Amino acid sequence: MARVITNCPKTGAPVPTGHVMNENQFEATTARLAFRCSDCGEVHHFQKGEAWLKEMRGALR
Ligand SMILES: [Zn+2]
Repeated sequence: MARVITNCPKTGAPVPTGHVMNENQFEATTARLAFRCSDCGEVHHFQKGEAWLKEMRGALR
């Protein structure tokens, strides 16, 4: 599984969205997803093209 990361539209910093999925799930995602930004505290929406996966190796066992 991997964390979905996107750039905060306010600060431009990469932030974890809190969404966790594997590559197949990520590729199948078509909707805009909402998340609470850990950088600026606001709720943002993102699409697959604006996000990427960061593998969680050994985490969350
Ligand atoms: Zn933000």
